[in-house]
Amino acid sequence: MKALLTVLTAAAMMTSFSLAESKYKEGSCCDKAAKKGEKCQHPCCVDAEKAGKVCEKCNKK
Ligand SMILES: [Zn+2]
Ligand SMILES: [Zn+2]
Repeated sequence: MKALLTVLTAAAMMTSFSLAESKYKEGSCCDKAAKKGEKCQHPCCVDAEKAGKVCEKCNKK
């Protein structure tokens, strides 16, 4: 029971975390990486990230 609670709490935290990271286009490579708690490894996305931006090539509106 305690383990289940831990999982639910972790899931709730992940949800709010990914909501805060919603600057990425839903389903983009960066969005998927962010949801795994990682940064997208695509060179174009890494460059954009360094510049404090979101890669526009992969996150078209
Ligand atoms: Zn990306
Ligand atoms: Zn990119």
